[in-house]
Amino acid sequence: MRILKGNPVSRGIALGKVYIYKAFKADVHESYFEAGKEDEYFKKYQDSVKTAEEELNNIIESMSEESPEKAKIFTAHVEILMDEEVEEGVKEMIYDSRAMPDYAVDEIYTDFANLLAKAKDPLIAGRAADLRDVRNRVLRILKGEKERNLSNLRDNVIVVAHDLLPSDTATMDRNRVMGIITEVGGATSHTAILARGYKIPAVLGVADATEIMSNGDNIILDALAGKVLLDPEKETVKEYQVKLVEYIKEERETSEYLNKLPLVKSGERFSIGLNIGDTDPDESFKYADFVGLFRTEFLYMSSENMPTEQEQFDAYRRVLANAMGNPVTLRTLDIGGDKTLRYMNLPKEDNPFLGNRALRLCFTHIDMFKTQLRAALRASAFGPLQIMFPMVGTMDDIRAAKAVVEEVKEDLRTAGIAFDERIDIGIMIEIPSIGMIADMAAKEVDFASVGTNDLTQYLHAVDRMNPAITGYFQSMSPSMFRILGRIFAEFNKAGKPISVCGELAGDHLGALVMFGLGLRKFSMNAANIGRVKRTLSLFTKEETEEIAKTVQNLQTEAEVIAFLDAEVERKS
Ligand code: PEP
Ligand code: MG
Repeated sequence: MRILKGNPVSRGIALGKVYIYKAFKADVHESYFEAGKEDEYFKKYQDSVKTAEEELNNIIESMSEESPEKAKIFTAHVEILMDEEVEEGVKEMIYDSRAMPDYAVDEIYTDFANLLAKAKDPLIAGRAADLRDVRNRVLRILKGEKERNLSNLRDNVIVVAHDLLPSDTATMDRNRVMGIITEVGGATSHTAILARGYKIPAVLGVADATEIMSNGDNIILDALAGKVLLDPEKETVKEYQVKLVEYIKEERETSEYLNKLPLVKSGERFSIGLNIGDTDPDESFKYADFVGLFRTEFLYMSSENMPTEQEQFDAYRRVLANAMGNPVTLRTLDIGGDKTLRYMNLPKEDNPFLGNRALRLCFTHIDMFKTQLRAALRASAFGPLQIMFPMVGTMDDIRAAKAVVEEVKEDLRTAGIAFDERIDIGIMIEIPSIGMIADMAAKEVDFASVGTNDLTQYLHAVDRMNPAITGYFQSMSPSMFRILGRIFAEFNKAGKPISVCGELAGDHLGALVMFGLGLRKFSMNAANIGRVKRTLSLFTKEETEEIAKTVQNLQTEAEVIAFLDAEVERKS
């Protein structure tokens, strides 16, 4: 079994077979024709536009009854097709430069699409996809190829593609498509919006998905956790069949909790944070009190080059705008381990998770680190931003990181650039060595957030990426709860905010125990909010404390989970 990761943009679980979908790919070269054939080639272009219009009208007609909203996408495509500026551009290239029609179409549409893609408003930027979609339609017709789409599938499948164009998703045979996986795309991409609209589970941004998987492969699509399990063992399949049934039942119950205040039964309030990995606006921001983890890696990983200070500044400001005045915890670059950057050429390490990773790597690439801090500090003038360092192991790390922040602040002061002088600086607690001296760390920082994913990895000495040893990855072991209890107690004693932003905070059982251990700030993927709120609402503060005491004295993780399951079951 192999596990691939991506962004879960449309919740759900699907078990099934892979269908690799390759849309028409235009192979266009710069090419010109000899003088005298201008009218002939312009006519060829006009004919292709006519055919494209017919195809689009057919789609609109077939959709207008069942899904008028989606039909609008294609009405917009007709408008693009008929756009005067586009036609003028193509005509000019054909008549003035004698460019072949396919080359002219490619150039003009791509120019317009690139222009849109740069728009600050992500919704406008997303419309670049529509232009590319129409361009491909016209180019395909010019090449004399038939329409390819997902409207005629013979079996139930999980579609795997590099990307899906709006026309692919909208004409897709919804009764056959059980899930969607793409290599690119964020939460506001067309694919994500339509997948959510159709309630099809989707995980986007799965690197190299179309190369790693083949037609007919058995997979499990876990669009709750953002995972694709390739060639799962029988046991795993059984486990997921059960999960699927549970998911459907819970979906119904938990969605009612999204709009409720996060309270335990005895009335104490806790707060919900959101974990995000891009700058897309999302309706889940309205269900959260803060952004507890903004993973900035995406900016670096989705780019061909190191993102500039300005690009980062713009991205951070977008996230502040999305958060609507709530605090945003920006985590500085956490690269290394399993995450690499193609333009950085990092040396291969024998033990990358124990190697030059995250904050350590930033210390050895100080210019890159300072650029990010400059962008973050500048953005802090526009909203409540906090800076958080990953992979802190010692007090030396904290002091060294703070010293770099001070240097960058001084540079900004000298240059007269605004930033928040009182910006909060915090750390992630994900290496046990810093957890064990949480009392001292709490005095040195403004806040901390526990990364239970890495804390489990380092406490249990288990590589979190290695599927052969997943059984050893025990986030709910008694030892995890003992160290967590100690960390929460020290921060609470010092009066410094403490949260958890690892997966355990979004696990309703983990959250229940951690409330009992004194945690009040839980940051998670949007998908888990309803369930965590619901489970915690079933227990009083005293009951959670009793539960927390009990689990620390059970012997195995299996016992802990069985005990917690039974407690929740009893209350439900
Ligand atoms: C963690 O380690 O728990 C965490 C939140 O960070 P990441 O999963 O990005 O390493
Ligand atoms: Mg981590």
